Amino acid sequence: MKLDFHMPTKVIAEKECVRNNADVFKMGKKALIVTGKCSAKNNGSLDDVIWALDKNNIEYAVFDKVMSNPTVECVYEGAEMAMEEEADFVIAIGGGSPMDAAKAIALLAVSDIDRKDLFSGNIGNKALPMIHIPTTAGTGSEVTPYSILTNHEKQTKTSIAAPCLFPAYALLDAKYMKKLSLKTTVNTAIDSLSHSVEGMMSARANIMADIIAREAIRLLASEFDNLASGEFTDEDREKLLYASMLGGVVISQTKTTAVHAMGYSLTYFKGIDHGRANGLLLGEFMEYTEKFAPEKIHDILDCMGMKTVDEFKAELHKILGETENFVLAELEMYADIANMAGGVKNSIHCPDRSEILEIYKNSLL
Ligand code: NAP
Ligand code: FE
Repeated sequence: MKLDFHMPTKVIAEKECVRNNADVFKMGKKALIVTGKCSAKNNGSLDDVIWALDKNNIEYAVFDKVMSNPTVECVYEGAEMAMEEEADFVIAIGGGSPMDAAKAIALLAVSDIDRKDLFSGNIGNKALPMIHIPTTAGTGSEVTPYSILTNHEKQTKTSIAAPCLFPAYALLDAKYMKKLSLKTTVNTAIDSLSHSVEGMMSARANIMADIIAREAIRLLASEFDNLASGEFTDEDREKLLYASMLGGVVISQTKTTAVHAMGYSLTYFKGIDHGRANGLLLGEFMEYTEKFAPEKIHDILDCMGMKTVDEFKAELHKILGETENFVLAELEMYADIANMAGGVKNSIHCPDRSEILEIYKNSLL
């Protein structure tokens, strides 16, 4: 047996999680709250965090400029604010975009990294401590050491990774998701499914990550009908948030595979939401992997109570609806980009450029 498992984030999940655990915020003298433009102000999460900070007499500043698929410019601007405000810890509130931006801001606030070196792989291991509060159920970023940023130079999205990017705390309360749109609920749930399924198809898969992935896949499969119908109880929301966190724990160990690497072009060039992009490719990549590792794929399908990849593809189609329009020339370009990406090489069986193109064609044309 070979195992190496490190996930240092303390996870607390309960109703009224932020207010009940206000002591967690005694992490420093001044917090930089990193969030998106609107949702945290409307779903109660920002009010709860401010209540917890006020209770402990901790000062704060708010950086609320994070857009979906955050850019390098955005995180340098946030880091500038963290330094000006002399923040000594960071609180992320939101979906994967604010959570990922907060990690890069926490890093850049205390590390002198030139913009041209941000994706060099050489970013050191120093960052301000962080508390993450997810308000979507999908990315699991609250328990991963990755920050995924738009990389205009390479026309894709690129991950920066370091152990210091693991948040100190992840506080989970599904009440913030009550008014999350069906579109974002579906796309984020499929992102989290993709994390756990890809974790099992990863070259870095291990027995502990597999156990967690199986549990997450089972939970998500029990939500397939609701994802198709659009009806969610509070318990369903809790289940989706828990499964999303589990998926994050999985990829914190295994990283993602060709599915994410290939999906980034759909987001970069067509503006397709991250989770949906993965969902459009996941079935076809499972079919590809089945040829080389059938037992893995049957293990995954078994967790969903299914026998064949076709059955899974039909379920995904029910949830995701019709695919956007693509032409072959676009897919050729995406195949060139994905072929250069590290994620492809992290697959249990790595597709070459022509196989990547084939997967794109079968999925999208
Ligand atoms: P997102 O871009 O964070 O948010 C999508 C939309 O949902 C935004 O308009 C946001 O509004 C809104 N929203 C968020 N929470 C809401 C709530 N509770 N109620 C109503 N609206 C809400 O989407 P995401 O799918 O969660 O994150 C995607 C990003 O995560 C991508 O950049 C992806 O690459 C990254 N990712 C990271 C990891 C990792 O390990 N680090 C893993 C997978 C994906 P506001 O802008 O107003 O907040
Ligand atoms: Fe993802």
